[in-house]
Amino acid sequence: MDGRPRAPVDLDVAVVGAGFAGLYMLHRLRGLGLRARVFERGPDVGGTWFWNTYPGARCDIESVDYCYSFSPDLLAEWRWTERYATQPEILSYLRHVARRFGLRRDIEFGTRVTALRYDEPGNRWLVSTAGGDEIYARHCVLAVGNLSSVNPPAFPDLERFGGEWHHTAQWPGGGADLAGKRVGIVGTGSTAIQALPQIARQAERVYVFQRTPNYSMPAQNRPLPPGELDEVIQGYRERRRAAEESDPGIPVAPPQRSALQVPAQERRRMYEQGWQRGGINALSYAFTDYFTDERANFTAQEFAREKIRGIVRDPAVAQMLCPTHHIGTKRTCVDIGYFETYNLPGYFETYNLPHVELIDVRSSPISGVTPGGLATASGEYGLDVIVFAVGFDAITGALLDIDIRGRGGQTLAARWAGGPRTLLGLCASGFPNLFMITGPGSPGVLSNMVVSIEQHVDWISDCLAYLEARGLDRIEASAKAESDWVRHVNELADATLYPQAPTSWYVGANIPGKPRVFMPYIGGCGRYRREAGEIAERGYTGFALGTASADATALARVCSGGNLPPTGRSSAAAGPGR
Ligand SMILES: Cc1cc2nc3c(=O)[nH]c(=O)nc-3n(C[C@H](O)[C@H](O)[C@H](O)COP(=O)(O)OP(=O)(O)OC[C@H]3O[C@@H](n4cnc5c(N)ncnc54)[C@H](O)[C@@H]3O)c2cc1C
Repeated sequence: MDGRPRAPVDLDVAVVGAGFAGLYMLHRLRGLGLRARVFERGPDVGGTWFWNTYPGARCDIESVDYCYSFSPDLLAEWRWTERYATQPEILSYLRHVARRFGLRRDIEFGTRVTALRYDEPGNRWLVSTAGGDEIYARHCVLAVGNLSSVNPPAFPDLERFGGEWHHTAQWPGGGADLAGKRVGIVGTGSTAIQALPQIARQAERVYVFQRTPNYSMPAQNRPLPPGELDEVIQGYRERRRAAEESDPGIPVAPPQRSALQVPAQERRRMYEQGWQRGGINALSYAFTDYFTDERANFTAQEFAREKIRGIVRDPAVAQMLCPTHHIGTKRTCVDIGYFETYNLPGYFETYNLPHVELIDVRSSPISGVTPGGLATASGEYGLDVIVFAVGFDAITGALLDIDIRGRGGQTLAARWAGGPRTLLGLCASGFPNLFMITGPGSPGVLSNMVVSIEQHVDWISDCLAYLEARGLDRIEASAKAESDWVRHVNELADATLYPQAPTSWYVGANIPGKPRVFMPYIGGCGRYRREAGEIAERGYTGFALGTASADATALARVCSGGNLPPTGRSSAAAGPGR
């Protein structure tokens, strides 16, 4: 340090968002003795699990893996009750975490951050909120979520509708009364696949408006007996380590064989085994080339389509429900009773119910909203309630909802006009001291997101501790290292079938005008962790570190970033987080 005074700040670190990511970030920052505050637009903690209260909402990574691991006491005291926890249970868990670690006192609820401006001479960020507050912080962490910016229904004439309508991510607080009603559901992604079986139990008639069918694996959900949970907790360190080193962030052994190397009968047996085990990786556990070889992928597709044909009694409906894209390249869903019930009490095979009707809006698009319902090219459907399960402006939406201006006043939106660019999905060149959690270019939505979140938060915390210990107050991704990382991410993706799914939200295809770029890092959690760890161990290669008060070029140590690991083919990267 050159001894010149730093510009005054209110906070060492401003964190935006109080979901899984923001809560753990706050906890770690406090541990470092930094003055930190979280700004959350909602009235409570929970993020995804606060907002998504639609019927049927639950995680599709097993509860015991979809949770924090940083505190053994927290692990031991929380009792998950089902293999896949419901939304209310996950929200209770996050509220418990907030209470247990006394986090609420440093969270400003009902506070939407609208703008972030980097004050270059002061080397600090000016955080502006919708309420007109302005706060200076030395560093900012964006924990705004990958699936938190709601994609609104694209019907300009929606106000004509005489009934109620709801977006699944903005479900009414007290629930929606669907009993005896005619309900239309627009969309057949993960959310609709969770919600439809529950809605069909209440409604008098349900119309499902489907553009693209999706693959869905049976959840094989069940209660978690306390003894089983105790056993999991006892061996948790190894379980979590296996998850951290795996591709998908769940404790699975990597597959060893190609689907094309085994006889058809054996292949079928392995798929059936996965199906009976259930879960998001039911089929992708089996073989190395599931995500990389069209012919291998086809064998899994056919297996999944056969299952649909075997469950859904009306052959025409079954055909409409059979997806044709490469399995796994759009987010694979997990269901309880959308296709199969596995004799769970109270569940039905939804498409075999007489009051559920599937409408193909690819061949007969929705032409508009009418006062009484929805009109398609082939007719009008009378509805009392419309449920829009149309998802999010994923991965970049919540980041770009904030007017972020970095060095020289350049906006993040302009910098990302051709698609997002980051180093490690953590930082962007031109935006010093600004971190993203599970940003584009990280495994994020392709992984168990809590595993990825913990790793990102730990990386950021270690980085801030490193800076503090050396009297440094500035870190910025170099443009060269950022370009190298973008190329690395693209090369990994191009070695798989993922970029061939043109209608996926992984490439922004659900948002008109969004650049079509495959955004996540496909190399898997374990590989990513090693690459990010090596960068840190070598003193943050690819980042410029320095003190803002001195001449940046003299002090900043700009590393080439040329030592990124070589690109290789992703083995069997999986596909959780949605
Ligand atoms: C229905 C659903 C089910 C899911 N199931 C799984 C699953 O099974 N497994 C899995 O790995 N992932 C799943 N996900 C992904 C899930 O989003 C992540 O697992 C995880 O909850 C993300 O935590 P987060 O803290 O990063 O973001 P979020 O939980 O999205 O929290 C971000 C917070 O930031 C706030 N925020 C955003 N912008 C601003 C702003 N400008 N100002 C102030 N506050 C702001 C939001 O209000 C929100 O509370 C699911 C997502 C959805 C929608």
